[in-house]
This record gives sequence, structure tokens and C-alpha cells, in this order.
Amino acid sequence: MKIAFFSTKPYDRKFFDLANKEYGHEITYYEGKLRRETLKLAEGYDCACVFVNDQVDASVLIALAAQGTRLVALRCAGFNNVDIVSAKELGINVVRVPAYSPYAVAEHTVGLMLALNRKVYWAHSRVREGNFSLDGLLGFDMRGRTAGIIGTGKIGECVIRILNGFGCKVIAYDKFKNPACEELGVEYVELDELFAQSDIVSLHCPLFKETHHLINNDSIAKMKKGVMIINTSRGALIDSKAAIEGLKSEKIGYLGIDVYEEEGRIFFEDKTFEILTDDVFARLTTFPNVVITGHQAYFTQEAVAAIAKTTLENISAYENGDELVNAVKVD
Ligand code: NAD
Repeated sequence: MKIAFFSTKPYDRKFFDLANKEYGHEITYYEGKLRRETLKLAEGYDCACVFVNDQVDASVLIALAAQGTRLVALRCAGFNNVDIVSAKELGINVVRVPAYSPYAVAEHTVGLMLALNRKVYWAHSRVREGNFSLDGLLGFDMRGRTAGIIGTGKIGECVIRILNGFGCKVIAYDKFKNPACEELGVEYVELDELFAQSDIVSLHCPLFKETHHLINNDSIAKMKKGVMIINTSRGALIDSKAAIEGLKSEKIGYLGIDVYEEEGRIFFEDKTFEILTDDVFARLTTFPNVVITGHQAYFTQEAVAAIAKTTLENISAYENGDELVNAVKVD
């Protein structure tokens, strides 16, 4: 198949070129994102391959369909950036990579918890400057703390397994209980109870209309003073302005995010010499108790290799008329 690859980096090319030796697709890599202005680059291509911040809304899909594209292949799990209803109406199939390495994201999640708790980022810069003082670096034992996991799918379950190892008490909220988590001793509670009881709140549910700004002024008000909030799922699960207010009032004691609601304009690029115009993001970077990573939770060798393999497999399945096991379906 002829594939127009958007938002690609050298590391994507390395893993996809290697995996494509088995599949033999004709790939053209583009650095830029798919959006209205770059649509023409997909003209004559059967498939547009996109990532988390490509804009695949109705207008883009209409133009893609008119240009002959029949398949949108997401090389990620989340599909909140694709208008799947419009795609269906236009006869465009959408496939994704529902699972590649939940361990990668779960391990990064716990990495953020530990970095914040033990202030590893502060300690590292202090030691480099010859400052070996421990003032301000006091942490807490994870053992015995209550972690509230929102979304107990593949990643949530992995996070729970790690936190169980630490001796945390884990409670959870999900619309559907995961029996494996129940077997691990997790207690499912209502959201308000999770907010009230948790020392750490970690988000692992998808971004839907109903989960947009799940963490907002109201939910923050229900949390313990000094709570740690971790988001490695999707940026818009958190109302960033509410988080800033929570940090200013010290209701939020720690914030660790790998995703940000306006990340599409910032992440994955070197902006060292550019003026940051997003004041909300800029404010977040000023807090001593906030750690931000740029959507790298998935970024392990194993995960990127698995993403490449499944994406190309999905595309081959479409080409061969096989069942699209990883199709994104409209409910
Ligand atoms: P999954 O589908 O296995 O699990 C998601 C869980 O969320 C399910 O159990 C589902 O029932 C639950 N859920 C749905 N609606 C909910 C609601 N309103 N409230 C609470 N729970 C709800 O998905 P996963 O593989 O565990 O991934 C979770 C999310 O992680 C993805 O949606 C994606 O946005 C994000 N993600 C981020 C990265 C990264 O690099 N930062 C990488 C992969 C995935």
C-alpha cells in the first residue's frame, strides 16, 4: 500500500523501516502534522498514517476521501483526534494500535510518582552544583499510601501491579470492573470516594466527552490536601487552569503530567530558542512540585517496535481484505 506518514521523527523511520522489511509497503515520511494545510501531501495515497496530535477532523476526512485515501492508520492507542463518525460516513476505515506495551506507560507513570515524591529532579541539579543539603527533599514512604486509579484497563492494571509491590493501598474507579484488578485486591469505589481517600490520583482512562476535564475545580476540592495527581493518559482529562489554582492554594501537593491539553502546539519539537506563548503551560513549568514530560511515557524500544509491527499489520490486513481486528468502531 502507498502510505503517507505524518508527524514522523528519525526514530519512527528507524523502527518502521526495519518492520516494513516484512510487509513491503511504499512509505513516504513527512515531518509535518496532518491538518488542513498539509492535506495535499496525502494525495494519491491509499493510507494516511497518523499520531496523537495529527488533526483528523471532519473537514480533513472529507478532503482525504476526495483525494482517494481509504484508510487512516493511527500508530497509537488513543483516537480522540479522529472524528470516527465522519470517517464511517465517508467510508474511511480507521485502525489503531490498542496495545503495544502497557508496561512502558505504567513504568513511566510510577517514575513520575517517585520523581515527585523523592524530588529526584531537584536532588540531581543540586548535586551537580555541589549542594548536598537535604533541606526541602523530604519524601514519604509509598508503602501504606492510598493510590486511586481512574481507568483500570491495560495500563491501569499494570500501574496497580507495580503499586501493589510497593505496598500501597489501591482503590479504583472504572465504568467496567477489571476482574484481574479485583483479584489483585483492588477495591472499586465511586469517583467522589476515590478523590476523598487518595494520596495519589492517577489517570488511565481515555479522553471522551464525558472524561474531558474530569479533574476540575470541583473534583480537586474533593481531594485530600497535598494530593499527588498524575496524568499519563490524555491532556484534556485535566483542566490545566484548575490545576494551577489547586497548586497555588497548595491543595495539590504534586503534579506529574506526560500529556497536556494544548500539547499539539508544543510537544515533540525542540523549542529551545522559541518564545513560549502558552501562558498556562508556562505557569505550570514554574512550580517546584510539578514535573512535566513531553508525551514520552510510551517511548521504549519494545513499545515503538510493537507500534511499528501492529501498524503495518493493520495496513496489510486492510490491503488483503482481512478482518480489521484493530478497527476503531463507532458505538
Ligand atoms: P484501555 O482501553 O485498556 O483502558 C481504558 C480503561 O478506561 C477501560 O477499563 C475503560 O473501561 C475505562 N474507562 C472508560 N471510560 C471511563 C470513565 N468515564 N471513567 C473511568 N474509566 C473509564 O486503555 P489503556 O491501554 O489502558 O490506555 C489508557 C489511556 O492511556 C489511553 O486512552 C491513552 O489515552 C493513554 N495512553 C497514553 C500514552 C502515553 O504515551 N502517554 C500511551 C498509550 C496510551
